[in-house]
Amino acid sequence: MKRDRNVKIVATLGPASSTYEMIRALHEAGADVFRLNMSHGSHEEISERHQIIRQVEKDLDSPIAILADLQGPKLRVGVFANGEEELEWGEPFRMDLDETPGDKKRVCLPHPEIFAALEPGAHLLVNDGKIRLRVEECGNDHANCTVVTGGTISNRKGVNVPDVVLPLAALSEKDRSDLEFVSALGVDWLALSFVQRAADVEEARALCGGRAAILSKIEKPAAVQAFEEILEASDGIMVARGDLGVELPVQNVPPIQKRLVRKCRAAAKPVIVATQMLESMIESPMPTRAEVSDVATAIYEGADAIMLSAESAAGDYPVEAVTTMDNVAREVESDSTYTEVLEASRTAKRTTVADGIVAATREIAETTDIKAICCFTSSGTTASLVARERPRVPIIAMTSSRGVARRLSLTWGTLCVMTGELERFKQAVVNAARAARKNELADENDQIVVTAGVPFNQPGTTNILRVAPCDERLIYRTDPE
Ligand code: PGA
Ligand code: MN
Repeated sequence: MKRDRNVKIVATLGPASSTYEMIRALHEAGADVFRLNMSHGSHEEISERHQIIRQVEKDLDSPIAILADLQGPKLRVGVFANGEEELEWGEPFRMDLDETPGDKKRVCLPHPEIFAALEPGAHLLVNDGKIRLRVEECGNDHANCTVVTGGTISNRKGVNVPDVVLPLAALSEKDRSDLEFVSALGVDWLALSFVQRAADVEEARALCGGRAAILSKIEKPAAVQAFEEILEASDGIMVARGDLGVELPVQNVPPIQKRLVRKCRAAAKPVIVATQMLESMIESPMPTRAEVSDVATAIYEGADAIMLSAESAAGDYPVEAVTTMDNVAREVESDSTYTEVLEASRTAKRTTVADGIVAATREIAETTDIKAICCFTSSGTTASLVARERPRVPIIAMTSSRGVARRLSLTWGTLCVMTGELERFKQAVVNAARAARKNELADENDQIVVTAGVPFNQPGTTNILRVAPCDERLIYRTDPE
């Protein structure tokens, strides 16, 4: 769907957003991508939501990306005899493999692989980092700790172990079953939680077998360290600030966000900035000033997409949250500082013919009065390269592949339009001009730039740049076959 903004909006679906009416309203309000969180919801619910999204897509004739987010190896403590205990600063506390319900002195941590990897001095963080334990002494079945930050610990709370690379399988049994389920369902993006190394991504890619593009969530210090290799192995990235802010000091998150966003852009791979963007809107129809500023910052940085989690999945104001993001985006993107920042941060190295053509395309489009850049793309690569340039002129990605159109819904600034199979270049130009006019980006007297690779439908062949009129009679008169 045509939007008056470049940044894309990802909305997580959940109990607050599972009906046809709500999902359609969210798409109309501005959600370009829907996220299905595999940590919640049965396969039946997931498949129902998937089906509704596809129906909305059909009814509105507007490609929509579906992103399935795998839970990943989330660690949890066992249970307590009293349900919960208060841990106090300086006290000893033991984690072990004994399944007997816990008390004030100990609890079960049913993950032998953690004990195998722990070292004295490492930290165990419980309940989103609210409780910190320092390991004093450990063995294959236990860790004796000291409480560094106290608080209430209760049944099955999550545990983070930021200081060590855990030899955890990147995909649990549940993840494998979910991965197969959503790949067969036909989602467009598969998000991997708690990625630690490029091999984790490769493993998921092999299982997925090309049925979806792979997005790595950066939420562990190890992933920040190995970011270059992970980016190389992935099709997209999420800056997963929720867990990242637990695993690392919170103040480390903003500089990491900035660095990752720039690197993804340089690699022409989409990046999502996620978590707590409009957190207060779970309960309030109005965001805080700080939240609006956070959303704006991600947009000024040039992120491809911004994401809603509980705000749209479980909050009281899902549509208002999407509208808020849309409003902020349109305001930021009409500010001259936005353009200046994006121009100043254009750092990509250009090495291929396609790189050169897209750079020239932007140059021409911004030099004269060109209304749109229409790029024919069979794999999506050329459209991503155009988006990397962050041009001031709207981008229309023209593709005959529905899967490519859907995946590109996550990419900065691209309006995805389906074309039939094309054989002649003249036909492509006519189609591009029609798409620009139909979406009210241009009228008959305007000009567009068209890029394509001839022969058609061979990925990586972009070799033509044509400044074309939008008047079809002119195209027929002047264009070569
Ligand atoms: P989650 O991932 O919502 O699946 O935890 C996002 C994050 O950690 O920020
Ligand atoms: Mn997370």
